[in-house]
Amino acid sequence: MKISLSLPTFEAELNTDPCDPYNNAELTLTLKLGFRQINPAGGAADGTYHDYGDAAEPTRRIVKWTNGAWNLWKRNFVSSAVNFWNGKFWLSNNFALYEFDKNGVKYRPNIWCRFCIEDRDISFGGHHQVIDVVRLHHSENWFGSHASLYDSLDTRMVRKGTNSRHRAIMQRAHVHEVGHLLGLDHVDVGKAHCPPGGDTNGATCYGVADADKNSVMGQGMQLRTTQAMPWRKAIIAIATQGAALTLTDWEARLQRLYPRNPAEIAAGRLVTTRQLRR
Ligand SMILES: [Zn+2]
Repeated sequence: MKISLSLPTFEAELNTDPCDPYNNAELTLTLKLGFRQINPAGGAADGTYHDYGDAAEPTRRIVKWTNGAWNLWKRNFVSSAVNFWNGKFWLSNNFALYEFDKNGVKYRPNIWCRFCIEDRDISFGGHHQVIDVVRLHHSENWFGSHASLYDSLDTRMVRKGTNSRHRAIMQRAHVHEVGHLLGLDHVDVGKAHCPPGGDTNGATCYGVADADKNSVMGQGMQLRTTQAMPWRKAIIAIATQGAALTLTDWEARLQRLYPRNPAEIAAGRLVTTRQLRR
């Protein structure tokens, strides 16, 4: 069974076909992204472009995209962002939902969180986000980019900050930005030093404690279970028609959870290792 749902920020599809005593239902979130080249004016090979696309900001040297460089950049963006976000979370099913029978035993699957990016031609429309991309001249190593304006270096691992031991914290900017596209805020939004109503792009919103700085929604590359929220919201919308999400419903783990039989459910535990199933 497949159930699809279009939400403003992404498409969601629940697929229960893979369910067996070892495999869960899969929930795939798909972002339809359109990529658009920004080239030097007048068809020139070289030119300039402003940081953040804002005429008041400094200019950087840019060069014209070639087909080869463009396709390589897009492929790398899509594959590395998908590789980062796909298949990392499992949501534990605490409802009597999607249960299936195998050899007389009723199993309850969990939800495996999948992620997909559709590189959708600009002319098709219907994108969740259109992203403009400048190709930086080799003399430039920095450009002011944001969620809908990237530079050709944004898929590289760069130093975003420093931890309390003065060690570099590295991040690939695009995986952080894809987190925003999925609806995630900066790691410390909601804390006293980064109130939700204030400027959530302030430096402290990217984390103050090392553990928070290391988060992908801070300055680093680490995932945490709170970042499964887009999938939790999607499964709530699909499975329980938007019922209020409680802390324990569809709780996320960064660890594979196996489908449970009635005895395992009654024992109130999650199954994290492969059990002998008949
Ligand atoms: Zn951000």
